[in-house]
Amino acid sequence: LSDRLTAALQTLTRKGKLSDADIDATAREIRIALLEADVALGVVKTFIAKIKERAKGAEVSQALNPAQQVIKIVNEELVGILGGETRRLNLAKTPPTVIMLAGLQGAGKTTLAGKLALWLKKQGHTPMLVACDLQRPNAVTQLQVVGERAGVVTFAPEPGNGVGDPVDVARRAIAEAKHAQHDVVVVDTAGRLGVDEELMKQAADIRDAVEPDEVLFVVDAMIGQDAVTTAQAFQDGVGFSGVVLTKLDGDARGGAALSVREVTGQPILFASNGEKLEDFDTFHPDRMASRILGMGDVLTLIEQAEQAFDQKQAEKAAEKLSSGQLTLEDFLEQMLAVRKMGPIGNLLGMLPGAGQMKDQLAQVDDKHLDKLQAIIRGMTPAEREDPKMINGSRRLRIANGSGVTVREVNDLVNRFFEARKMMAQMAGRFGFGGGGGSSK
Ligand code: GDP
Ligand code: MG
Repeated sequence: LSDRLTAALQTLTRKGKLSDADIDATAREIRIALLEADVALGVVKTFIAKIKERAKGAEVSQALNPAQQVIKIVNEELVGILGGETRRLNLAKTPPTVIMLAGLQGAGKTTLAGKLALWLKKQGHTPMLVACDLQRPNAVTQLQVVGERAGVVTFAPEPGNGVGDPVDVARRAIAEAKHAQHDVVVVDTAGRLGVDEELMKQAADIRDAVEPDEVLFVVDAMIGQDAVTTAQAFQDGVGFSGVVLTKLDGDARGGAALSVREVTGQPILFASNGEKLEDFDTFHPDRMASRILGMGDVLTLIEQAEQAFDQKQAEKAAEKLSSGQLTLEDFLEQMLAVRKMGPIGNLLGMLPGAGQMKDQLAQVDDKHLDKLQAIIRGMTPAEREDPKMINGSRRLRIANGSGVTVREVNDLVNRFFEARKMMAQMAGRFGFGGGGGSSK
């Protein structure tokens, strides 16, 4: 509950909108940060436009200055884009699951094959690696070495059998995996230094032969903006269902992540950050977002500012509650804030002591709240601040002004006094306020 309450208090104290000047100034900074992080220009433009749009509708926060607030929006948006669609590896209903790796030469496919194998093995799978890169002289041996390190079987064409056809190797590997009951097959493929048709055709042929459950596009994060054209070429030539970013341990600022995600719409599943087999993890959108912004410290500051602010607000509200000084203005604001959080009955039901008020709670529906809201709005600020002054003639005026009966106004005012008394008692009983502050 306290989280929800905190959220409510936070919302109710925010008023007004961010100004265009604030937004533009910060957007310029963000634009520079993104370009420095090597995000492709087209992607930066779309992204900034999106941010501006969202920031324009945003309420002003009292905890953050406008720049911090825009950055916060940027961060949320980044995390959303990078991880909105985060999903686990697709496993086949009938094993083996076939995972095919595609990407340029040097992207880190072979290394990834080993990492993936080890990771899968740790989760109880029995993976098999398949060497379908028959282009480079050492490629097969390289895969066998990482396979050995990971402690998994590697399927490779028999030496002396000629250069071999990768499609044929792939096909035989799947048959072997079924036979030997490997539940996951990771197919390593050849890459060229640049995108070329022959490479694409070979990859597409292997794809058709093995019907993979996942085609992972492996991309070196250090290539930055070039990630866009490469990703597009692979999407058109082979198609892929997920992305793996490699070499994040280098000085890559992660722009490739955003570019690839925006341009292809495919999720980033894993991140590779070193040459060792263990340097591998599922992809964390939040870490990548702060990396792209290069603003890890800024983000921490924002969090701290918000927490301090929440604390102060919560203490103030608790004090008001326990001293019985709650006003109708507070009441209205809290009601509005609370209503943003979902069905009112559920929410009230979570309050301490709510059990005894079940019947009353059942009557609290949203229509009723609309009415309460209208009544309070029909009062003058002075009346809201000091409800005791609402005498008979004022009640009549309020009723007429808000289109309700005098009885309904009476009802609200009386209930408010009751509620205020009850809350003060409850606050005392549960130790809110009075320097307690440990309700979190
Ligand atoms: P492939 O051509 O796509 O199969 O790429 P490789 O797996 O052979 O990797 C190319 C080079 O990059 C090798 O020297 C790897 O050790 C190195 N490499 C791969 N992944 C990473 C990584 O995440 N971090 C670092 N620092 N090096 C990597
Ligand atoms: Mg390789």
